[in-house]
Amino acid sequence: MIPSERVKEITKLLEQYNYEYYVLDNPSVSDAEYDRLMQELIMLEEQYPELRSPLSPTQRVGGKVMDEFPKIVHKRTMLSLANAFNEDDLRDFDRKVREVLKVDSVNYMCELKIDGLGMSLAYNKDLIYAATRGDGSEGEDVTSNILTIKSVPTHIDLDFDFEIRGEVFMPKKSFIKLNKEKEENGEPLFANARNAAAGSVRQLNSAVAASRGLDAFWYYVVNAKDLGLRYHSEALNFADKLGFKTNKERKLCIGVEEVLEYVKEYTSKRYDLAYDIDGIVIKVDDMSLYDKLGYTAKTPRWAIAYKFPPEEVITKLIDIIYTVGRTGKITPNAVLEPVRVAGSIVQRATLHNEDFITEKGLMAGDYVVLRKAGDIIPEVVRPVYERRSGNEIPFEMITNCPECGMPLVKKDAMHFCVNPMCPARQIEGIIHFSSRDAMDIEGMGEKVCEQFFNQGFFKNIVDIYNLFEHRDEIIALDGWKDKSIDNLLNAIEKSKSNSLERLLFGLGIREVGAKMAKTLSKIYVELDALMNASEEELIEIDDVGPVVAKSIYEFFRNEHNLEIIEGLRSKCLNFKYLGSLTKAANSYFSGKTCVLTGTLSSMGRKEASEILESLGAKVTGSVSKSTDVVIAGVEAGSKLDKANALGITVINEIEFLELIK
Ligand code: NAD
Repeated sequence: MIPSERVKEITKLLEQYNYEYYVLDNPSVSDAEYDRLMQELIMLEEQYPELRSPLSPTQRVGGKVMDEFPKIVHKRTMLSLANAFNEDDLRDFDRKVREVLKVDSVNYMCELKIDGLGMSLAYNKDLIYAATRGDGSEGEDVTSNILTIKSVPTHIDLDFDFEIRGEVFMPKKSFIKLNKEKEENGEPLFANARNAAAGSVRQLNSAVAASRGLDAFWYYVVNAKDLGLRYHSEALNFADKLGFKTNKERKLCIGVEEVLEYVKEYTSKRYDLAYDIDGIVIKVDDMSLYDKLGYTAKTPRWAIAYKFPPEEVITKLIDIIYTVGRTGKITPNAVLEPVRVAGSIVQRATLHNEDFITEKGLMAGDYVVLRKAGDIIPEVVRPVYERRSGNEIPFEMITNCPECGMPLVKKDAMHFCVNPMCPARQIEGIIHFSSRDAMDIEGMGEKVCEQFFNQGFFKNIVDIYNLFEHRDEIIALDGWKDKSIDNLLNAIEKSKSNSLERLLFGLGIREVGAKMAKTLSKIYVELDALMNASEEELIEIDDVGPVVAKSIYEFFRNEHNLEIIEGLRSKCLNFKYLGSLTKAANSYFSGKTCVLTGTLSSMGRKEASEILESLGAKVTGSVSKSTDVVIAGVEAGSKLDKANALGITVINEIEFLELIK
């Protein structure tokens, strides 16, 4: 791939990951994978400086400011930190610092890198506000939630304006408790303690934040100089005396060798701590040297964050078991001897398919290397050959469905149960149909679907719409009351009027994800039109290749599927695309008066206006009191000044793109 295309590709991915991580608090990739892509982008931009845009993820602090909270403009930008991944990177950092300062050895303060979210507290005797880092220049006012952290002083004994920064985090104990509760309630779990902390701080209801058991460490006195403090170590002691909780594991290291010792010590000690850390932060202790060392757009040159490598552990692969998905796909899973890795106990890991297992040469009974690259999905890396006893059982893929016993069909690397009546497929199909991205039936989570399926209320998705017939039987079940069943029945009724793309995705056609379902719905508008489409016609559509076209065509030629669709029709489900209407109603811009100013790099003003109008906004040419939002591109002039003077919400291009996504 040519470099400019790769830069574009990585940028797009990093922007998506930033959004998932900072806005949704729900990352889809590991931190190690994110860091790997970021390093690749940094290297490409160093090699081809002409490809570096000022909006590149390498140049911007990743967070976003959400509209739900009032905004706080940081008096001094809250930066990120440059990363080091190994000893060489740390030595390199030290060498550069010494070269600039023209000295032989530097004193560094080493601190634990707390895996939480950055926060700034402003005081004038009393706490004035607590703000998230946001995009570095502007954060969210989350004062009421931070006040629920008992260790945060509400008042300090100091007669000056005072600002201190630190990290809010969720201790391991609170995290385990929270996820346990979520699991019991059938709610999605938080991927790790960092995301749980960020999600809790962003709760609009402080009572919820209060119940989450958050804590914080404070590590940077912003106006230290004004207070006559020269050394960072001195400033931390000062913060201590004022009553702030600082982290006591810190150490002042004389020269890089002591830094490396400290890093080594905490690489193993980290698991014994009551909170997650993802590295070590190393800062030049003498703050009077900071201006001389300087800053990049995103990071100071007087500090660096060493990131721990993804953690690997060894455990036993007790057995390989199989699950059947809604499309009939058979997934082999590792049953593992429970082991703690990267902050949680793991006892299952997907082994994907037959090829994955044979390529790695895994056998039941093997000791295996397991990793969870700092966070989410546990992964079996390889067997530990040296620990084989000879009693391991060679792997052989099953030939029949573990649920219904029908012979499996192999397609590429995957095996499928093609029996549409297979109970495992049906229950998965019902769970998928009800899920958030499909029909979004509130209250019909995995557990509820399973309960009703096991009670015999559901055999397929059509039965969801007959659930009211079982009302009395449901009330007799544990955990159900009049109110909860009424809410569920209302949610089921409401789902009947969903737009076509939800239904289409919910049907579970192989190769048709949420995005494809939307594309098809927009084009065909009515389900019947799509059902009648030929394979050739489908291939003509952008993004639809022969495999997808075949899968769609065959789905609508299958007797069983047609029966289901007719069943849904008889229950009066909406089969039409309501796209633009719903889109406008759900949009942030719906009903708002907007003004565009300055130049947008991604589109012309006309296009931006059209998009806004399609989302239900009214676009006007000048800023007045009745303007709701100003979208400011580069070199925005007087309209922006006026908007600021009138206190009107101003969003930049990145935020605009995010909101119209
Ligand atoms: P960072 O994690 O590299 O480090 C900077 C932050 O460390 C500071 O802003 C501060 O909040 C924190 N910190 C903790 N302890 C500290 C201490 N003692 N002193 C100073 N700072 C301390 O930078 P970032 O900008 O917060 O986050 C970027 C990282 O987040 C990435 O490197 C990646 O690992 C992760 N990330 C992951 C995804 C994903 O999809 N998995 C997406 C975005 C970011």
